[in-house]
Amino acid sequence: MREKNILQILRDSRYTVVLSGAGLMAESGYPLLRDGQESYEIEEEYGYSFEEIFSSGFYSARKELFFRFYKEIILKAVETPPGKGFHALKTLQDYGLIDSVITRRIAGLEERAGCRNVLNIRGTVFNNTCPSCGRKYPVEYIKAAKSVPLCEECLVAIRPHVCLYGEMIDNGVITRAAEEVERADVLLVLGTSLTSSLCGQLLQYFNGNDMILVTDTEHYSDQRADIVIYGRSDEFLTGMVSEYEKENKD
Ligand SMILES: [Zn+2]
Repeated sequence: MREKNILQILRDSRYTVVLSGAGLMAESGYPLLRDGQESYEIEEEYGYSFEEIFSSGFYSARKELFFRFYKEIILKAVETPPGKGFHALKTLQDYGLIDSVITRRIAGLEERAGCRNVLNIRGTVFNNTCPSCGRKYPVEYIKAAKSVPLCEECLVAIRPHVCLYGEMIDNGVITRAAEEVERADVLLVLGTSLTSSLCGQLLQYFNGNDMILVTDTEHYSDQRADIVIYGRSDEFLTGMVSEYEKENKD
């Protein structure tokens, strides 16, 4: 690990890409549906684990229960607004210190905070279409549906464009994410480990100068990063914002 001024690194970088993990989301007060206490409650309430119910097989076979779960658990969680970390990310982007953001989270938090150039690898709950006619529906329509949300024209179930367990991530999206990482001078990994699903697929494309990892949990793979900061991602980001603003006060 090197001692180096991170703000300076971000300033010097021609292109900086953020990999946004679960950390910023948890710091915004989001429940950890797959691994947290919530996972037991889900199993108790629905009779299936989070991964079982939030899967393509389940979606095909048991739409009613899928959408009950989807509305009560997923869309309920999504009502939580983006926390200070996401807003700081947007501010750093406004200051020209961050170019794009890649995430696997489906709550669209980066975009809701105003970030641009966001690549949602697994889609977001805000994108819903009828598989038959292609008509688009807002998330409010899904939320308001009594049971399975149906297309007004075709009466077939509207599909939320989120990647479910058991589904392959769209190849085009992965290619775009890989190209972003390949283009980066600096890769800023927030709130996840370097072995996570998000990083696992993408780190191999990085051949820039600095990989900076911000995480609150130590992991054996941390040493692969050039710089590791242990702590909250939102505090790191707001710290960067104030440091930048202090330097540019005059
Ligand atoms: Zn339709």
